[in-house]
Amino acid sequence: MITRGFQGARRPGHERLPSGQYPEAGFPVMSIGPAPPVKPDTWTFAITTEAGERHAWDWDGITRLPAEDIITDVHCVTKWSKLDTRWRGVSLDTLLKDVATDATHVLAEGADGYTTNLPLADLRGGRAWLVFEFDGRPLEPDHGGPARLLVPHLYLWKSAKWITGLRLLTRDEDGFWEENGYHAYGDPWREQRYAGDLGAWRAATVTAVKAETPTATTIVLDVPGLPEHLPGQTVDVKLTAADGYDAQRSYSIASPPGGPLELTVQSTRGGEVSPHLSGEARPGDRIEVRGPIGGSFAWEPGEDDAPLLLIAGGSGIVPLMSMIRSNTRGVAARLIYSARTPADIVYAGELAERIDASALAVTFCYTREAPPGERLGRIDATVIPGPGDGAFPEGPRPGIFVCGPPGFTRTVVSLLVEAGHDPAAIRVESFGPVA
Ligand SMILES: Cc1cc2nc3c(=O)[nH]c(=O)nc-3n(C[C@H](O)[C@H](O)[C@H](O)COP(=O)(O)OP(=O)(O)OC[C@H]3O[C@@H](n4cnc5c(N)ncnc54)[C@H](O)[C@@H]3O)c2cc1C
Repeated sequence: MITRGFQGARRPGHERLPSGQYPEAGFPVMSIGPAPPVKPDTWTFAITTEAGERHAWDWDGITRLPAEDIITDVHCVTKWSKLDTRWRGVSLDTLLKDVATDATHVLAEGADGYTTNLPLADLRGGRAWLVFEFDGRPLEPDHGGPARLLVPHLYLWKSAKWITGLRLLTRDEDGFWEENGYHAYGDPWREQRYAGDLGAWRAATVTAVKAETPTATTIVLDVPGLPEHLPGQTVDVKLTAADGYDAQRSYSIASPPGGPLELTVQSTRGGEVSPHLSGEARPGDRIEVRGPIGGSFAWEPGEDDAPLLLIAGGSGIVPLMSMIRSNTRGVAARLIYSARTPADIVYAGELAERIDASALAVTFCYTREAPPGERLGRIDATVIPGPGDGAFPEGPRPGIFVCGPPGFTRTVVSLLVEAGHDPAAIRVESFGPVA
């Protein structure tokens, strides 16, 4: 299905990529929390067999093993790929050489507490490494340094950052990411992004277009047959040029379940898809949509009456707005919303009405320019309510949802944990500017 007016950017290398991926020149940091404080002098890595036998290395031990230079493409499930990345590290063949095992799978463990599962066979045969250099320099903490796993033939979440160990298993056991809806295997060439079906591409017609800010636009879509979503979920959007070239991106759903699908798109300068959707789309235009996707960031209204703490940076407000709009039971909700200037606040009018009419409390944090008398500055500990804080509604453990650019979400998660919130109650979605 051709999208009127869409031409596409066709960046060099796009033809080398698995379906739905686009080439990215930067190196986005996609971790949920801050980089754990792992230093080479205290770093250890252990392979533990199913019989409990431990094979352990310290930094000296690892760096004395024969290392290899690796040049490879990497693919992130959020749709960016980076071509010809250069790494240096030790092959898993070397590390597994003297390990006697009948294991079929491994659980890779990171110092941040996250785990991911892989078949053991995928770590053998020159296809996986423990890497400690990127682009000729020590691997930076944000990218998993001092050492991470690198399994480039699978989506990048399988390449566990801040690797501390591999647990060998005689059966497959989901890791953190897989329990949260990601695919058990994760082959980019078969588009194994999530557990379950991605759903078919469906024809969607733009029925209305609403300017929200000078750079963000809501498009309302009629998508016959699209299953009902939960607030917080996303859809994939596909635009196709007249010559058949297509580009795909993910967008959070802004609308509550039950009505027409609304997406709010912030235009990215030099971007391929967002300037078209936010600047060119008109009623009657046709695009394709599939989903809804993603369970780990979804809120089930009516699940319980736990209060909601919602923290948004920039266009991270979009999935949180779907939650606010779905809050028909009047669950106490507090939104902390960081934007550059008042003009950048998306849904400003609707938020003001909801503050007056419902149990919604909002704190705006302006980072560039604030209205007279209002707070100017990034979100810090002074605006994050603690679990028993009077500023935050009493009640059962709150559901905490944080959405914004990766640097923003990492800072906010640290602040929430420092304020005493249970890390297990915090759910995070990161998208936006890339480092
Ligand atoms: C799960 C998920 C949900 C998302 N939900 C939304 C949403 O509700 N609304 C929304 O507007 N976007 C959302 N995004 C981001 C969206 O998928 C695109 O990445 C974004 O629209 C940019 O796409 P593009 O094709 O215009 O730019 P691209 O062509 O992909 O990128 C061009 C350049 O801009 C940089 N860049 C990418 N994104 C940004 C950004 N936000 N700000 C500054 N620079 C950037 C890139 O590093 C790249 O170098 C979501 C992403 C994910 C993964």
